[in-house]
Amino acid sequence: MKRQLSITVSTHPKPKFNVNLSALRRHYYLDQYVIIAPGRNNRPHGFTNLATPHVVVNAACPFCLDGEPTILAVPNLEHWRVRVVANAYPAVSLTNPNAYGAMEVVIESPDHTQEFSSLSVSHIETILRVYTERIASLSILPGIRYVLAFKNDGPLAGTSVTHTHSQIMALPLMPPRIEAEHVALSSYQDKHGTCAVCDLGCWEVEQNQRLITADSELLTIAPYASTHPYEAWFITKRHTTRLADLTAGELRRLATSLKYVTERLDRDLISFNFFVQEALPGDNHHLIIKLEPRVPMFYGGGEMATGIIINTIAPETVPHWYNETI
Ligand SMILES: [Zn+2]
Ligand SMILES: [Zn+2]
Repeated sequence: MKRQLSITVSTHPKPKFNVNLSALRRHYYLDQYVIIAPGRNNRPHGFTNLATPHVVVNAACPFCLDGEPTILAVPNLEHWRVRVVANAYPAVSLTNPNAYGAMEVVIESPDHTQEFSSLSVSHIETILRVYTERIASLSILPGIRYVLAFKNDGPLAGTSVTHTHSQIMALPLMPPRIEAEHVALSSYQDKHGTCAVCDLGCWEVEQNQRLITADSELLTIAPYASTHPYEAWFITKRHTTRLADLTAGELRRLATSLKYVTERLDRDLISFNFFVQEALPGDNHHLIIKLEPRVPMFYGGGEMATGIIINTIAPETVPHWYNETI
């Protein structure tokens, strides 16, 4: 039988390949996607080597120059506190039918020398509120099916510009990894009649072995089956589905815990990503903010073949690592 290959995904009926334009493509036979984005090679790179500390003064920093038009700015007394601009080197854009979507940059501070972890708790709360607002605005655009807020911090986390920032990405499809999470959470709900995340939160409190922080509103846990050293999940104790659901108290607790965890990572110059996993439209799944430290890990054949990652840091030792004082 002739092989049926589906190698393009496009809103354009017959896309023509143009080396200067991005293209969203599907793997030959797996449910995996790639965005071919040659233009991203032109991105400025502020890091000169991988051991460079996060803060590097760069006179030509695009986020200091205020060159891009502002999409949203949260003002403060002198200037602005947090500002959103379009990504100047987007992998997807609203004008490209071959890689449709949107990418925005959340410039987290006008001050180039600040780290995310050195911002005040109230400043981090503002950043989280900006995520909420941009997720809401991009989610209603025609053809957009999924919007993600995420942060890359440090040279091993995919950061190209050193000025502290995070990103919002809007896609025309449901990413398979997000869909797989949705399916698993739905299946748990169907089987047990309860929320898997509420249940794991209760179980982790009972076990009391992997709690990095815990209070009446929020838990920061080192997940039982962490795939990365020092991995941390932030979950509200109350069942919440989106950042927009959080009370002022819960938002403050989340900002406090993010600052606490990222301060510790920065102390050891560990790069990290964090991202906001919200419920999908129409479901009621629990909000999880997942933080993945990017400790260099070089996978061998076993990991490459099976996808089973060997993590050499037991999550039970992780709360101690985060909580140790200098
Ligand atoms: Zn800058
Ligand atoms: Zn829940």
